[in-house]
Amino acid sequence: MTQYDSKLLIIGSGPAGYTAGIYAARAGLEPIMVSGFQPGGQLTLTTNIENFPGFANSTDGNTLMLAMKEQALNLGVKIIEDTITEVNFAQRPFICKSESKEFQADSIIISTGASARWLGLESEEKFRGFGISSCATCDGFFYRNKEVVVVGGGNTAVEDALLLSKFAKHVTLIHRRDSLRADAASQKRLFVNDKISVIWDSVVTEFLGTEQPRSLTGIKVKNVKTGEIKEMKTDGVFVAVGNHPNTEVFKGKLDLSDEGYIITAPDSTQTSIEGIFAAGDVRFGNYRQAIVAAGSGCIAALEAEKFLQEK
Ligand code: FAD
Ligand code: NAP
Repeated sequence: MTQYDSKLLIIGSGPAGYTAGIYAARAGLEPIMVSGFQPGGQLTLTTNIENFPGFANSTDGNTLMLAMKEQALNLGVKIIEDTITEVNFAQRPFICKSESKEFQADSIIISTGASARWLGLESEEKFRGFGISSCATCDGFFYRNKEVVVVGGGNTAVEDALLLSKFAKHVTLIHRRDSLRADAASQKRLFVNDKISVIWDSVVTEFLGTEQPRSLTGIKVKNVKTGEIKEMKTDGVFVAVGNHPNTEVFKGKLDLSDEGYIITAPDSTQTSIEGIFAAGDVRFGNYRQAIVAAGSGCIAALEAEKFLQEK
């Protein structure tokens, strides 16, 4: 098993991880980063990014993340393409392991992000990024005057539907039951919005579209009570069936919220173990946006630097 020793190990290569790496490298901490199963993170799932500052005419997810990676590499971050599968935070230096490598580190920044839950259909894989999205805040703008569908019945689905109604011609919310999980106030706003209609007791069974260019054109919707399947035309589908933080490996090792997000001290990225910091979407909090993740990556690196200096 190859062994790596470092003052700082960064787990995850999204905006939080790269920003932490950039700051830590400039502070002389010679960080090692383990990039994980999705180098570049969630933004590599999307095309246009219009709300990350610095790009007058927008950029796309892969370009942005490659630029962050190059900046980190140029400043001396050592990036290893692997996934952490086991951790031991009970001893110092801390130990993290992948299948074939062991990483010993005096401090750690966890920036493993969160993953959207998807419906798990084969046709969904095909049209993700080509008409299927999990982020209305990011992609809603592209559906101005178009017909869109939101799948889900929680707060995210309802908020997505309300947000999309500002751009789209019409929004159809499809929910698998006959009542919403979302809170009452959100439901009230949904039901008075005449640009939104709801299809109850129904699930999407297939996404339909063209190959060249790859583009979603419709869906098949099944009524779970009657079994009837109908085809419906749509320009875009927003899947909002919840998401999950990538924290499986940290269960029982750090304080996590009921939903599995890493709990940090107020106004800090410090986790329940001194010397271990959490940044980005993996951290318990409200705002899941790239700029927020990058900002908390910066804070985590500054806090790690301070921790190592005091140590
Ligand atoms: P992530 O980007 O989730 O990165 C997590 C990293 O951790 C990945 O590299 C992964 O490989 C790694 N990892 C996970 N587990 C392990 C492990 N065990 N070992 C090692 N590495 C691991 N935000 C915007 O501001 N603007 C947008 O336009 C926008 N569009 C979006 C479009 C889509 C489709 C989605 C899904 C999200 C979008 N977002 C957008 C949200 C944005 O992508 C996230 O807020 C941001 O990526 C969070 O960054 P992060 O660094 O915390 O985590
Ligand atoms: P959520 O509350 O878990 O809701 C997910 C929704 O998707 C549920 O309605 C669920 O249906 C449905 N669903 C799950 N799997 C599905 C599948 N395979 N097919 C079809 N539908 C499926 O997730 P969320 O809305 O993302 O919210 C996550 C957490 O953040 C919640 O605690 C929420 O309250 C909170 N949140 C709060 C706010 C706010 O306060 N403003 C905003 C957003 C999120 P069922 O209802 O049948 O289970």
